[in-house]
Amino acid sequence: MSYVVGHKRVLELLKRLLTGSKFPHALLFVGREGIGKKRVAHVAASYFLCKKGGCLSCRDCKRVLEGLHPDFRLEAPKGKGGGILIEQIRELRDWAFMAPMEGERKVAVLDDAHLMRPEAANALLKTLEEPPEGTLFILVTSEQSKLLPTIVSRCQIVRFHPLSRQEVEEVCERIGVPEEVKRFCAEAGTLRFASVMPSQIETAKRAAETLLKNPSLKLLAMEEVWSQETTFSIFLFLVRKKLNGLLRKGWNERLWDLHRGLLEVERLFYGSNL
Ligand SMILES: [Zn+2]
Repeated sequence: MSYVVGHKRVLELLKRLLTGSKFPHALLFVGREGIGKKRVAHVAASYFLCKKGGCLSCRDCKRVLEGLHPDFRLEAPKGKGGGILIEQIRELRDWAFMAPMEGERKVAVLDDAHLMRPEAANALLKTLEEPPEGTLFILVTSEQSKLLPTIVSRCQIVRFHPLSRQEVEEVCERIGVPEEVKRFCAEAGTLRFASVMPSQIETAKRAAETLLKNPSLKLLAMEEVWSQETTFSIFLFLVRKKLNGLLRKGWNERLWDLHRGLLEVERLFYGSNL
């Protein structure tokens, strides 16, 4: 069973890029949320740290895939709304500049990189401007436009295509996701909601329908969904998707107000400060 479903061309490209003696210092993985970018980042790190050309089965590779290799590090936002803090980037930088524990290389992965606080982004930029030798940075994002252009320009961009319906279903079956949730994930084209309960999807769907039938900022604050973080994230996803579709067809004042209100809520919920 392979570690990653889909993304064949991306994996081929990464193997070529990372198993030779010349390699980029920073990669930026860009693609929709919940399609396996972070898993691919683990594979890329294995390619980079493996002494057998990226075998994915030696002790080094296995430890990277499990997140246990001492020369591999993953940073992610601290909880919902927390963003990536400057302390995290400082620690990451200090770690990156120390000699590797085992080989000659290190990999630092920054998940949801667009959630870096502005000071954190500036600190990372300085590190990327003068990167430590032998260290590969992998920034992972679903929202490239929220990253500093100066950071983006320091990275080689790797674009991910959405997973096909069949690929989403394959992963869901592999991890034993209930039928209703599998259907929802396949339709949404993301595995982001693979661990939610069917009842949460139902509640979120109902709330999203109510809101979009009668777009109002008051309804955006519905107690029923707000009180439950997971349900609220499904609700936000559904409303955003539908609203973008409606705005593309034409806009009116109420939809526009809802869009602005939603942006604010998204900013609070996902914790982006940029
Ligand atoms: Zn290996």
